[in-house]
Amino acid sequence: MGGTFDPIHHGHLVAASEVAAAFDLDEVVFVPTGQPWQKNAQEVSPAEHRYLMTVVATASNPRFTVSRVDIDRPGPTYTIDTLRDLRATRPEAELFFITGADAMAQILSWKNVDELWSLAHFVGVTRPGHELSTQRKDVSLMEVPAMSISSTDCRRRVSGGEPVWYLVPDGVVQYIAKHGLYRKGAPETGTPV
Ligand code: ATP
Ligand code: MG
Repeated sequence: MGGTFDPIHHGHLVAASEVAAAFDLDEVVFVPTGQPWQKNAQEVSPAEHRYLMTVVATASNPRFTVSRVDIDRPGPTYTIDTLRDLRATRPEAELFFITGADAMAQILSWKNVDELWSLAHFVGVTRPGHELSTQRKDVSLMEVPAMSISSTDCRRRVSGGEPVWYLVPDGVVQYIAKHGLYRKGAPETGTPV
């Protein structure tokens, strides 16, 4: 499951858990993006913060892991590279790529979509406010419990002094506070190198 994870929230975790159960997956690999090409670089938190929040959020689940492939690869992140790198480290694995309805719609508009399809089976999950549909027979669509949570809203809440308790895991609430993430005017502290 790829994402900016800025920060990771319970919408991501529920989606991953539901797909893992439905498809009997052995492992869900969360892959924080490097420099997201569709988002403004200045608006995205440093990759190490996003990576560590994802580690904190997934640590208690033995089937959840976090990969550094996208944050360690220089340049913008393309899903095709993510899948190739994951394939290289897990040559025997059958790969699934989990996306929410909004990301699914974007992916379907890409030019190299057929190559993506040859590397992984795509699973699109429902997300409040986005329509989930596809004409393609090789894409699975799945309804998951509706979590009307977005990282954008979490960032907005923190910058406005509103709570993010229960929207993100407790450890992520504490990580955000500890490093002063998303607070307007206050540069985050202790950025890991
Ligand atoms: P932002 O608001 O910064 O774009 P986001 O909440 O959309 O953040 P991303 O990191 O962009 O989170 O999303 C990673 C993946 O998780 C995408 O495939 C996205 O569609 C999916 N996703 C995010 N939130 C939800 C949710 N609440 N329910 C289902 N899928 C979700
Ligand atoms: Mg998003």
